[in-house]
Amino acid sequence: MALSGLDIYKLLPKTNCRECGFPTCLAFAMQLAKKAAAVDKCPYVTEEAKAALESAGRPPVRLVSIGSGERKLDIGNETVMFRHEEKFRNPCGIGFIIDDGMADPEIKKTLRRIHELTFERVGQKLSVDLIAIRQNSDKKRFCDVVKMVSGNTACGLVLMTGDKEALQDALELTKGRKPLVYRLTAENVSSLVETVKRYRVPVVAASVTLDGLSVLTAELDKQGITEIVLDTGMKPLVEKIWDMTQIRRLALKKSARSLGYPALAVIDKTDRFEECMEAATYILKYGGIVLLKGTEIWQALSLLTLRQNIYSDPQKPLQIEPKIYPVGAVTDSSPALVTTNFSLSYYTVLSEVEASKVPAYILSVDTEGMSVLTAWAAEKFTPAQISASMKKSGLENMVAHRNLIIPGYVAVISGELEDASGWKITVGPKEASGIPSFLKNLYNKPEFVNS
Ligand code: SF4
Repeated sequence: MALSGLDIYKLLPKTNCRECGFPTCLAFAMQLAKKAAAVDKCPYVTEEAKAALESAGRPPVRLVSIGSGERKLDIGNETVMFRHEEKFRNPCGIGFIIDDGMADPEIKKTLRRIHELTFERVGQKLSVDLIAIRQNSDKKRFCDVVKMVSGNTACGLVLMTGDKEALQDALELTKGRKPLVYRLTAENVSSLVETVKRYRVPVVAASVTLDGLSVLTAELDKQGITEIVLDTGMKPLVEKIWDMTQIRRLALKKSARSLGYPALAVIDKTDRFEECMEAATYILKYGGIVLLKGTEIWQALSLLTLRQNIYSDPQKPLQIEPKIYPVGAVTDSSPALVTTNFSLSYYTVLSEVEASKVPAYILSVDTEGMSVLTAWAAEKFTPAQISASMKKSGLENMVAHRNLIIPGYVAVISGELEDASGWKITVGPKEASGIPSFLKNLYNKPEFVNS
């Protein structure tokens, strides 16, 4: 929990010697509380006070980074229980488990499949983050699979083994990739901890109880391992949600430092619907990482879409730049449609215009990211605003005609918009799905574009 200026003042020497550049210790404390000064400016702060200040400055849920380069995955650093309080910061990592018992061709096929699980939605690229290699065979086979997977993917890696020698060799093979080691327990921590420290990699700390986790993370922290992910093992859904919720709650509300880490869930189900439902639940309820086996497109698409929604800022709708977007090989006779700058509205209209194969202009009006009906109700999509946006965007210089297509839901503004803009207003379909047939019909009416 952050300290106030007065809390910090109590930790300072209170001699007002001014060597820190501030007139009093209290003034320096106030700057420290605002994070506008560094504690090392005072040469007289004791080591205990420094440790207390450092600990107070730590986020309640530690940041953990897995992987390197462009595909580095950051998880944790969360500060709230509910997304309406503030945006959740680092999206839950989604990964797939590959068992080393699988045959090589099957592993390669699974890898190809995982890499194909990339989607574009409302202008954002969605893809999975992690591939976990799980040891079920001997050390050699595990390392062969680690080598094969790491050589063929840029995704972050999770090494699922409790075998010290296998872990050592796998970490050597993946040096520089900063894989996540799954998992350290009370039973194996003493034999694995030195290896983990040597390679400076993040680890999963596992115990079926929260008390057990607290003891284990305190021990790891003492050993200098701070990038930790928590796992209470595979449990019935309700019990696992309880664990994950309690971990977040205790870290945030009770300042439980030993549980102030992101949590992980491993799902090992053969029923793909059940697996997907469970993964979705953990994405919603505080999962830092979710690992599953099923690589069906429908699973990945639904989980990635859910994650995108949960980790968007509820106070700031996803929006695009308000301007004219030409779609296809437009000419000065191409039709012009208007919508709002809410990403979902724009991209829905865009995909339907593309599907129509009729080149067209889409004018996106700045409605602060509101959808058509919401913006109209909030008076952000009024004839005056649309008309001003038409002028500002330079639409009249791009087309030779003076026709604008408005969404069917705001047919009521057509007359007023005609008066405000001087353009002929055509009411388009209510649903975007009606755009292709609407545009195709329009294209066969030359009087529309020539008027
Ligand atoms: S240097 Fe330290 S002791 Fe001196 S005024 Fe600043 S905070 Fe106080």
